[in-house]
Amino acid sequence: MTDSIVKGSCFCEAVAFEIELPTVFCGHCHCSMCRRPHGASFVTWTAVPPERLRITQGAGDIAVYRSSENGTRQFCRICGSQLFCQTELEFIDVTLASLHGPIDRDPEAHWYYDSRAEWTEVNDDLPKLGGEDGMQALDE
Ligand SMILES: [Zn+2]
Ligand SMILES: [Zn+2]
Repeated sequence: MTDSIVKGSCFCEAVAFEIELPTVFCGHCHCSMCRRPHGASFVTWTAVPPERLRITQGAGDIAVYRSSENGTRQFCRICGSQLFCQTELEFIDVTLASLHGPIDRDPEAHWYYDSRAEWTEVNDDLPKLGGEDGMQALDE
């Protein structure tokens, strides 16, 4: 059974937080705005409504970068770990890799798969989506 509270932290543990399940979604994002700040082929996100994310330590060490007109990315100013991304008011994205325990769902899809890094090929059975909002079915 999955606990309803899942703890998380940045790499250096200056910033600690917890989320309360259930989550809203979970999936792999291949967009360039995720790849560059994370230094990764793609980023696995989950999300919760903002009121179910609590910063339990180190709120002052969270740097906020306005990455688009209505979006921010939040990361630890000491170790650089990317923690949160918020582009909608209804929920806040949380990097699955920052969590210390399992959540209530597995990754459900690959988003922005058509703009993935050219060295990345994924062979799992999850839907591979793309298009303007990264969530449309792609012709194979
Ligand atoms: Zn840190
Ligand atoms: Zn992305």
